[in-house]
Amino acid sequence: MASLLQLVNIDRRYLDSDKPLVILDKANFSLEQGQTVALVAPSGAGKSTLLHIAGLLERPNGGDVVLRGHSCSNLSDNDRTAIRRNDIGFVYQFHHLLPEFTALENVMIPQMIAGLKRSEAADRGLKLLTYLRVGHRAKHRPSELSGGEQQRVAIARAVANAPSILLADEPTGNLDPVTSAYVFQALAALVRQSGLSALIATHNLSLAKQMDRRITLKSGKIIELP
Ligand code: ADP
Repeated sequence: MASLLQLVNIDRRYLDSDKPLVILDKANFSLEQGQTVALVAPSGAGKSTLLHIAGLLERPNGGDVVLRGHSCSNLSDNDRTAIRRNDIGFVYQFHHLLPEFTALENVMIPQMIAGLKRSEAADRGLKLLTYLRVGHRAKHRPSELSGGEQQRVAIARAVANAPSILLADEPTGNLDPVTSAYVFQALAALVRQSGLSALIATHNLSLAKQMDRRITLKSGKIIELP
């Protein structure tokens, strides 16, 4: 059976002044259904670049992103957006919640864009927020929430449309160690309970050890860590 997500010979380079800065150099990676993988690498190594390419937010200079055996390279931007909306959830280091909406509305909006009725979106949104232990803050706006609460709402939003893949870019990087551990546990529990596959960039080795696999980036290659 094909892997859920494959990165095949991915090249990514930027122009730095006039010389190319090679970030990914024929990098290869497979994510299996239900698997959790930590991406551990120093700042500037290319973690965000890798996640953006895997999440179809950015196109590589070469190579292919293959989802369930289907190549995504030659798809139109509209098709890539549709896949992203239905199949891929993204969590960033900073929550990026919409400030003028409540926590619950932030989780409802992607579901309503995907065609759910308001009441259905509200039901599922509240269930997710409750699961992440932030249900009691559903009617509050992001500015009224703590950093840990904001990230839990952002996680609920990322999985609101039941994606198959969760990509997270240092989702607890802005939080103090205790809150970070708490939010990470909540994220890991949700991922396992819903059978999601996840690729999570983190600096925190003890959090990374809780994942099924660990990978890093070295000289543009993706390397498996013990
Ligand atoms: P990380 O997430 O591991 O900190 P990034 O993927 O953000 O790393 O960046 C990898 C490298 O690519 C960094 O040196 C960064 O400065 C460079 N970079 C990222 N985006 C661009 C861009 N749009 N143009 C030029 N260089 C970039």
